[in-house]
Amino acid sequence: MPFVLSLDEGTTSARAALYNEKGERVGMHSVPFECLYPHPGWVEQDATAIWRAQMDAASAVLLQQQISPSDIVACGITNQRETTVVWDRKTGQPIAPAIVWQCRRTADFCGELARSSSAGMIQDKTGLVIDAYFSGSKIRWILDHVPDAHQKARDGEILFGNIDTWLIWKLTGGAVHVTDYSNASRTMLMDLATGEWDDELLRIFGIPRAILPAIVPSSGRVGMITADLLGAEIPISGIAGDQQAALAGQACFRPGLSKNTYGTGCFALTHAGARQPRSANRLLGTRAASLDATPQFAVEGSVFIAGAVVQWLRDSLGLISTAAESEAIAASVPDTGGVHVVPAFVGLGAPYWDSGARGLISGLTRSSGKAEIVRAALESIAFQSGELIEAMEADSGETITELRVDGGAAVNNFLMQFQADILGKPVVRPADVETTALGAAYLAGIAENVWSGAAEVESFWRVERRFEPRMPASVRRARMDAWKAAVSRAR
Ligand code: ADP
Repeated sequence: MPFVLSLDEGTTSARAALYNEKGERVGMHSVPFECLYPHPGWVEQDATAIWRAQMDAASAVLLQQQISPSDIVACGITNQRETTVVWDRKTGQPIAPAIVWQCRRTADFCGELARSSSAGMIQDKTGLVIDAYFSGSKIRWILDHVPDAHQKARDGEILFGNIDTWLIWKLTGGAVHVTDYSNASRTMLMDLATGEWDDELLRIFGIPRAILPAIVPSSGRVGMITADLLGAEIPISGIAGDQQAALAGQACFRPGLSKNTYGTGCFALTHAGARQPRSANRLLGTRAASLDATPQFAVEGSVFIAGAVVQWLRDSLGLISTAAESEAIAASVPDTGGVHVVPAFVGLGAPYWDSGARGLISGLTRSSGKAEIVRAALESIAFQSGELIEAMEADSGETITELRVDGGAAVNNFLMQFQADILGKPVVRPADVETTALGAAYLAGIAENVWSGAAEVESFWRVERRFEPRMPASVRRARMDAWKAAVSRAR
């Protein structure tokens, strides 16, 4: 019986999952690792600890399921995106702590870049908004701050990778230095249209080409996991950044298919097909996971505070004792009575990109109570996501017909029903919500002929629950307008 192994390396834990020929998950194991905050706004991780956690998770899931490593015919890798590792080619040791995607240490440099004459060119070429989030400025920071790093980079003695690249290099005993289009499109160093590292961008960031990995399609064999690691040689055949892997795991392989992940924040992606998207609404253009060398694009928008507003209700306000309780409390009142919670705790993401906005609760009256505030907080997650989907439709001129959902807060039925209502579109929750790991497995399994292609894995996708919109269009429009008025106050 052939199995596909998926290595799902997230921001707080490394997970390993096993899938059978029918695309069913038969086992999963997670190993946490540490995040370090050495200065305000800085976020670091130990790349070697990530590697060990990932290996421990893989060994554990094989042992738990009593599956022989020789029965694993493909391995897919998905990863927290943008996080930056630079290591010594000879020793395999990182030359500095990994700089995590959330880290703001390069914000000043990016601010200057955003005000420079190159800003328009950078955004056009990469599809990204200039920000410390992406890898380019993080690589530059490491080269600037580690002695001799610039010289070593030019001499090819050190290598850069996002976590996919780092894990693959380690898994292949240092033989393979690659990344895929979806991860490369988050570095701010790749020309989104051509899928190649761009000399002009490399010059602006001061990064020598010699340290960069080769860019390959997301589905296709890149090398073998050495036999000493898991007990047999295993082909590495799928690579994608976590959000693009989730898009694949939701079987969104065609233009117009959309998914939204409800975690700490929300990440909405719409498949844009083979045509490069150009956003007039400050969404990001990015590469979707590709099954071959034909470029596949996606439009992406994110909400910074989504499930995190539920944590805030619990931990800072003490209005609820568990996240799950928010559902019943919100449903205990027919509406919020005009109350809005705008959780702009760290500013607002797309389509506003307003780092100066701050949170507020508006529309309070003497009859506003705990239930109204809890309900308004959940509604804020749906309103913010609704604005992303609205912007995506405005950009593409096409109608999104349904929204596929996953992530920790997607279990909240009140939230999902309200999301369907405020979108005026069905919201669909699949049976397997571990879509990130699943997407990486699909990419690897298709490459190794476990599955014949996108059509076959689409046939595995099962709906657990479908939420149909019930709100009249006039009410929906009025509610959205009232939300936008509250947002304008927060700005
Ligand atoms: P991440 O991957 O970002 O850590 P998860 O996908 O694990 O996030 O989701 C966790 C988030 O979902 C938390 O912010 C939590 O507050 C929220 N959450 C979990 N369960 C519920 C629920 N039943 N209703 C609303 N929010 C929830």
